[in-house]
Amino acid sequence: MKCRKCKTPAEVALPSHNTAFCRDCFSVYFTGQVEKAIRRHGLINPGERVLVALSGGKDSLGLMLELSRLGYDVTGLHVDLGIPKSSSAARAKVEGFCAAHGLTLRVVELEKEGLPIPDVKRYINRPVCSACGKIKRHWFNRVALEEGFEVLATGHNLDDEVARLFANTLRWDAGYLSDQGPCLNAESGFARKIKPLYRLSEFETACYAFLNGIEIHTAPCPYSGGASFTGHKRLWADLEYKSPGSKIAFYDGFLKRGRPAFAQVEKETGAPLAPCEKCGSPTSTGLCGVCRLAIAVSERRAADPDRD
Ligand code: SF4
Ligand SMILES: [Zn+2]
Ligand SMILES: [Zn+2]
Repeated sequence: MKCRKCKTPAEVALPSHNTAFCRDCFSVYFTGQVEKAIRRHGLINPGERVLVALSGGKDSLGLMLELSRLGYDVTGLHVDLGIPKSSSAARAKVEGFCAAHGLTLRVVELEKEGLPIPDVKRYINRPVCSACGKIKRHWFNRVALEEGFEVLATGHNLDDEVARLFANTLRWDAGYLSDQGPCLNAESGFARKIKPLYRLSEFETACYAFLNGIEIHTAPCPYSGGASFTGHKRLWADLEYKSPGSKIAFYDGFLKRGRPAFAQVEKETGAPLAPCEKCGSPTSTGLCGVCRLAIAVSERRAADPDRD
């Protein structure tokens, strides 16, 4: 197979675009998709500072590299979850990547913040991933606001977005359907949240990381009992195989025709927000959910006779 653009041997085949690229032309294609996402949805304005959430995986590290190459003012933010072995391995990849590319990195250690995820798992009676996701989102937004970043970027790719949209649609969850998309504008104590990789598939972000020699953290979290959207991703992979281009058509169609209708519903029912009494994060309940979690963990840890 030959590269569609320059006719040298192709290295990456992209059936959904009915094409294949060599290494250099794939890079141009990848950049073009990121630029298109930024332009089409006004993700980043000139001069804005961008905080990039870095997990150590292919998507977030690839996003950081691409935005820095495009000349944006980027800083990485890694939340060290405090999970034995797993968290230090992920953190090492993020630190190594940022050092190799001369990129600024900020690290939040949940151990120091009184909320290491093993304690959340032990003392809080709810699925650990839902609490962990909430804590990470809290810190991404909190650091963005406290340190003056206008924009918070995450590495969600097209497969992530389609799987989430599909799950929300199956439940007709109007709240989630009202604000899913590549850009959530800043409001009520929230920084603008953007997903510049939303046009690129998981396969494409993996190719980008591989072709750019990015060393990524691949070991699954020991607490992941099978990620929630894996089944939906398999269904969509099947659909995409039979009908290339289905994913982006489904997602783009939602952005154009579905989301505006749901946004209207949410505006009429959303609860008013005020700063958390302890940390200043937006909440509708006096103390925000993460401060309440931290208090609960600290009380139960103090009362636990087995804890050293
Ligand atoms: S799988 Fe691990 S890192 Fe991911 S949300 Fe669950 S506990 Fe957190
Ligand atoms: Zn080429
Ligand atoms: Zn709080």
